[in-house]
Amino acid sequence: MGLGILGGGLTGLTIGYLLKKQNLDFEILEKNNECGGLCRTIQEDGFTFDIAGGHIIFSKDKGILNFKLDILGDNKVRSKRNTKIFYKDRFVKYPFENGLSGLPKEDNFECLNGFIKTLNRKYNTPKNFNEWIYQTFGKGIAEKYMIPYNEKIWNFKTENMATFWVDGRIPKPPSEDIIKSSLGIETEGYTHQSYFHYPKQGGIQALIHPLEEKIKDKITKEFRITSIKKEEGKWVVYGNNEKKVFDQIVSTMPLIDLVNLLDEVPEEIINAINKLKYNSLITVMLGLDTDKLNDLHWLYIPNRNVLPHRIVFPKNNSFYMTPEGKSSVVAEITFNDGDNISRMKDDEIIKKVIDDLDDKKIIDKNLVCYRKIIRLKYAYVVYDLEYEKNIIKIHKFFEGLGIDLCGRFSEYKYLNMDACIKSARDYVKNNNFIQ
Ligand SMILES: Cc1cc2nc3c(=O)[nH]c(=O)nc-3n(C[C@H](O)[C@H](O)[C@H](O)COP(=O)(O)OP(=O)(O)OC[C@H]3O[C@@H](n4cnc5c(N)ncnc54)[C@H](O)[C@@H]3O)c2cc1C
Repeated sequence: MGLGILGGGLTGLTIGYLLKKQNLDFEILEKNNECGGLCRTIQEDGFTFDIAGGHIIFSKDKGILNFKLDILGDNKVRSKRNTKIFYKDRFVKYPFENGLSGLPKEDNFECLNGFIKTLNRKYNTPKNFNEWIYQTFGKGIAEKYMIPYNEKIWNFKTENMATFWVDGRIPKPPSEDIIKSSLGIETEGYTHQSYFHYPKQGGIQALIHPLEEKIKDKITKEFRITSIKKEEGKWVVYGNNEKKVFDQIVSTMPLIDLVNLLDEVPEEIINAINKLKYNSLITVMLGLDTDKLNDLHWLYIPNRNVLPHRIVFPKNNSFYMTPEGKSSVVAEITFNDGDNISRMKDDEIIKKVIDDLDDKKIIDKNLVCYRKIIRLKYAYVVYDLEYEKNIIKIHKFFEGLGIDLCGRFSEYKYLNMDACIKSARDYVKNNNFIQ
């Protein structure tokens, strides 16, 4: 048997799809009874929810964007992004630096003043994400939004985060835009995302199903891999009381779990893997007995007193996300094992989300007609200050072993769907597969 693909999320399926086009031999092993990983969607009582919070389709890479749009065919809608930040009970334009005139006057002044002070200052290279934020945006924007929001979503101190990843992800705003924004002249930030696509029906898993359909005879579901060994020059993958033998394997499953399936991993590598940081995600999905909540696609909430860091409004992505006459919200909450949120019971979390959103008048708690909560272990890779040193060591080890790594938690990089597809495409292009 040719290539064993470990994991049937977007990355694994894309590799399979591309190999099938070349008539190459492969098999995808997926532990769940459905493919999609983080791109799964649930449909219940007429409501459709993406389990890993809000997913939208965008890319700076036209080829990859078209790949995704072609998969969807006619099943897609295009929207102009309408997102806000909930700041001091106001809805402020996103990104924050483009919405300064929406702040209370004193806050607007502090943000503009802080930013202007950065312009005349000579800075040393920032040592961490916190310093980068102060140097890029100034004290006002840093302390009112950037630091509280980032520390909430990453569940990690910005002082302990690296800076190498911010280039291209958090654009540096031109000074004209900040001044205009403070005066109330319209400007746009994060323009690569100003328009996005979303499946018309079926949530984000609608991107997965057509891929899966094309290679369904090559996928084994409910195959939880429990160990991997090299025997007589072949890779033997064990799970479900059976074994599969491959010439080559590529892993798209989380690196942290993969390492536990291997024999004799050097202590130095185990130590490096144990130092990698990530956070987990709780999504609270609520159905509401009202036709319309607002026009927003999602809302960022830096305030720590409100449990979620982001609220998504699925019906504004596509009308088909709720039954007729209803609306829904998805609240995203990041946590780590052992912290206060991780210790809260499901019912407590749902109640707190409903109470917080009702208190802020984002929903009316009397209209809640559906509730569900999901916990996902791996949500965001967190780039701490030791990340680069550790990941280089780990990647080198797997390269030496001959196990290829591809995908978000396998490469252990902050990859969105487009970057996963690119990684899968590059992987297939750069490897000589045995026919
Ligand atoms: C909150 C959140 C919001 C996001 N929003 C967006 C967005 O708006 N736009 C965007 O482009 N991207 C977004 N993403 C990123 C996107 O979800 C990921 O980039 C993508 O889904 C990763 O795909 P993957 O196949 O690499 O990994 P995964 O989806 O994690 O797939 C790995 C697969 O391996 C399987 N597996 C694990 N262990 C085993 C085992 N032992 N045996 C067999 N199989 C196993 C899993 O079940 C899973 O199916 C978001 C992610 C999160 C967390």
